[in-house]
This record gives sequence, structure tokens and C-alpha cells, in this order.
Amino acid sequence: MNKVFTFNRVTFIGFGLINSSLARIFKLKSLSKEICAYSRRKETRLKINDLNIVDQVYDDLKKSVENSDLIILGVPVGSMGDIVKEFSSSIKPGAIVTDVGSVKKGIIDSILPILSKDVHFVPGHPIAGTENSGPEAGFADLFKGRWCILTPNENTSKKAVETVKNIWQEAGMKVTLMDADYHDRVLAITSHIPHLVAYSIVGTVTELEDQLKTEVIKYSAGGFRDFTRIAASDPIMWRDVFLNNSEAVLEMLGRFIEDLTALQKSIRWQDGEVLEELFVKTRDIRKGIISEEQD
Ligand code: NAP
Repeated sequence: MNKVFTFNRVTFIGFGLINSSLARIFKLKSLSKEICAYSRRKETRLKINDLNIVDQVYDDLKKSVENSDLIILGVPVGSMGDIVKEFSSSIKPGAIVTDVGSVKKGIIDSILPILSKDVHFVPGHPIAGTENSGPEAGFADLFKGRWCILTPNENTSKKAVETVKNIWQEAGMKVTLMDADYHDRVLAITSHIPHLVAYSIVGTVTELEDQLKTEVIKYSAGGFRDFTRIAASDPIMWRDVFLNNSEAVLEMLGRFIEDLTALQKSIRWQDGEVLEELFVKTRDIRKGIISEEQD
């Protein structure tokens, strides 16, 4: 794809897995004349400097966004509103603000009222990630072939949406637009509940008596090992996801618990037919994911 845009100055607010991966693409493809980053901890700022991706690293939010034509929020969902409140008066008119948060409705509600009318907010969620955190965890191929969901409303500038879409396409993503509420319900079942289940199963092991816990870790089989990878994801990020998408998560959790209880009954009643029927159907879901190249 030919590059059709270049920014004068982009600012990454927060520089963990997602923002540092995207910044690598900005650097590799020269998408901005100047690349800036804000990070609150000195330790992280030192790591960012060592990576040689960013031209200016700031510990001051307001200064970091001054004169930027694009600001990308990559901090935990629950802190986005307060952070934007702190720098909103320093955003230049006409600038685009976008985010990478895993929940959309709560972020929009907390950010949109703070921004002045001449700033364009395009909420976004790149559906790509690993269980690792921090600037050193990022890599440019993270987004390749995956979906990015943008959730603008009817008043969002079409040009700003197109610009943000172009950025994610440069990162190798397929981009789609979606209603924010719908996004939160879809992600509740595809991402948030699976993480909750993993946290819960691995949490159960933490409660086992010492001897049994040691055996479980030692003889950890495929299933449990996969859950431990998911349950090693950043605790603050995931705390904020559940607190900010509680409605959709609780709705989907209700359905999940009903289905789990039905399975419990099938096992108690030795109803192999029901179990087998479900396991055949779930295989088809896996085949669908593979054929969509999302495995
Ligand atoms: P990460 O690697 O854990 O990095 C988080 C960043 O946020 C760090 O730069 C940290 O700065 C900063 N931060 C944390 N709390 C802050 C606060 N209260 N005030 C200011 N800065 C704060 O996170 P990530 O995985 O990139 O996730 C960032 C966002 O992307 C989240 O909203 C998440 O929902 C979303 N997301 C994540 C994934 C995933 O799989 N990880 C996928 C898609 C979307 P310091 O180091 O200076 O503290």
C-alpha cells in the first residue's frame, strides 16, 4: 500500500505493548516527522530512550501533546479519562485523538465530554496482543493480519476516521467500524470472559494445598498451561477492562454459567450424547477461526 499521509508530530500517551508496537511502525514507515512519547515512570522513560524509536520522551503530559496533530492513548482503560482531562487544554485545534483501549463505551463517555469541539476523537481497538507488557515487549508485526475496530459516532469527522483507518492499515490490520456498545458485547464474549475463566481456573490452583499445587505446576498439561499464559496478562489492564465493561461481561457471564451448569448436569447424568454434540459444534467454531486466518 502506498503511504498517503504523514504527520508532523505524533504523541504516544503511555508506551507499553500496544503503543510501542505502533510507534515502531511509525518509525519504520516514517509516518511522522517527529515521534513523541509520554510515560509517567522514570524507569519506563529510560527504557523508551534506549529503544531509539522516539525523538522526545516527556514526563509532562501537557508539553507532550503541544503542537501534535495526532495523540494516541495507550494506557489502562480506567485512567484514560483523568489523563485526557489533564492535557485537554493543550491540544491544538484540528488534532486527532485516538485510543487503543479494550473497552469502548466507558472510554467514549469519559473522554468525549472533555475534548473541545475542534478536536477529533476516533475511538479504536486493535484486536492484537500478547500477555507481555512494557515498551520492550512491543514488536512491529504484532498487528499483521488482525482486525482493528473503530467506534466513531455519527458526528465524528469522516476525514479523521479515514486517517486513523489508514494508520492501522499501515500496521497491516483489517479495519472495520462498529457501534461502541456492540463492540463491548462482542469483546465480552471473545476476549473478556475467556480471560476471566483463565484467571478463575489459575486462581483455583493458588488456593490448593502446597503439595497438590506443586504437582499441578510440575505436570501442567496443555490446557492448564494455556490458561496460565492468559492469566499472566497485566493485572491493572484487566482489572480496568472488567470494571469498565461490567454490564456486557455480567450479561455474557450469566449465559456462560447457565451453559456450564448444563454441562455439569450432563456429566452427572452420564449424558455422552449431549457432550459429544457440543464438542462437535465447538470444533466448527475453531475451523471457522482458522479459515478466517485469525488462529
Ligand atoms: P502495558 O504494556 O501494560 O503498558 C501500559 C502503559 O500505560 C505504560 O506505558 C504505563 O506507563 C502506562 N500507565 C499505566 N497506568 C497509568 C496511569 N495511571 N497513568 C499514566 N500512565 C499509566 O499496556 P498495553 O498492553 O499496551 O495496554 C494499553 C492499552 O491497550 C490498554 O487500554 C489495553 O486495554 C489496550 N489493549 C491491550 C491489548 C493487550 O493484549 N495487551 C490488546 C488490545 C488493546 P509507566 O510504565 O510509565 O507506568
